[in-house]
Amino acid sequence: MNVTYTCPHCESQNRADVDETSQTLRCEACGQSLHIPEGAIRGNRVVRCLACPSTDLYVRKDFPQKLGVAIVVVGFIASTIAWWGYHLYWTFGLLFATALIDVVLYAVVGEGLMCYRCGAMYRGFENIEEHGAFDLETHERHRQQVARLKQLEARPATRETISG
Ligand SMILES: [Zn+2]
Ligand SMILES: [Zn+2]
Repeated sequence: MNVTYTCPHCESQNRADVDETSQTLRCEACGQSLHIPEGAIRGNRVVRCLACPSTDLYVRKDFPQKLGVAIVVVGFIASTIAWWGYHLYWTFGLLFATALIDVVLYAVVGEGLMCYRCGAMYRGFENIEEHGAFDLETHERHRQQVARLKQLEARPATRETISG
């Protein structure tokens, strides 16, 4: 079981192996440790996010997005070249093959859990379906919460003094 998360101190990506006995997540880049909330991992299940205060996670296909985009781009370029060379069968063959590869990849990749709030990804855990699929309302709630926090942080800390 492992988690991929973004360090809140230095914003670098970390991947850490975790189990029920894990207590902290240590950033490899800056050395700062995150305390894992007690009971966050029960057996082989993850109950809540380890990297942020959120308790909302959703099931997500563990599809490498960059790879998916790369396949589409390569397929598109190859079919365009074929089109320019008047190889009509190749053009449509390549487009079809590209789409097929994407579909097959999507079917074979596993599923993981993702945190609504911080985007941490959890892999190798059991019973992940109890967290449910992506829910737009929950997502929106977290997005607004994070935006509000940012606004608060941006506000100057000094109190306005009344002069007169
Ligand atoms: Zn860090
Ligand atoms: Zn989180």
